[in-house]
Amino acid sequence: MVHYYTSKLEKIIGGKRVSIEFGIRKLKPLEPTLKAVKVTKVEAHGKQFRIWFADGRLLLVHLMMWGSWGIYRKGQTWERAPERARAIIRTRTHEAVVFSAPVVRILSEDELRNHPKWGNVGPDPLRRDFSRRLFYRRLNSRPELPIGEALLDQTIISGIGNILRIEALFRAGVHPRRKVKTLSRGEKIRMLKAVISLMKMWLHDRNSASRWIRIYGRVGKACPRCSGTIESFRQAGRLTIACPYCQV
Ligand SMILES: [Zn+2]
Repeated sequence: MVHYYTSKLEKIIGGKRVSIEFGIRKLKPLEPTLKAVKVTKVEAHGKQFRIWFADGRLLLVHLMMWGSWGIYRKGQTWERAPERARAIIRTRTHEAVVFSAPVVRILSEDELRNHPKWGNVGPDPLRRDFSRRLFYRRLNSRPELPIGEALLDQTIISGIGNILRIEALFRAGVHPRRKVKTLSRGEKIRMLKAVISLMKMWLHDRNSASRWIRIYGRVGKACPRCSGTIESFRQAGRLTIACPYCQV
């Protein structure tokens, strides 16, 4: 989802001069400094969008559960109420609108780096600079954490949603309750491989998710691999699903 909009935004505002307006009173005073500013890069980092400007600042957006992007040609009617717009990025031909997002910030690179919450995101497997070593290091630094929780922790790895962690652990044959310290090297490699291939499918093949979702939504039904009964339980406040027989 994040990467999907990132590439759409890249096409529309990447390398262009844009003007930004805010629907947030606190950010209004910044508007005069964001007229005809050049966008140098649009990137996704976990579930964050980072839109970088030529002056070294960036617009950071996090949609959380309820925010969304709308991308329109100039003059086209928005499908959401204008009062829900938190930021509007205008080019000569298009408008990219952030609706309802709880996090919209203008930061310098230093401010981002030192930000305790937004600066410390774990490596994102869909980025070209993804570092397996950094992922393993951050994972191994939390030995007592159950792996099902570790995969949702954005400081360990970015961009994994609930469905994806369930399916990745199923593919890897690893039970979500296993503590990080009990995983073998081979299991970790298998798991990361599953994560990466599922993320790529999620990105390129969103509309046919049913082809790669194997146990999500199958609680109480037979496991497609061993015919055991699929179970569910809560973990880190989220519903987790696993096969207790072939995920060990
Ligand atoms: Zn099974």
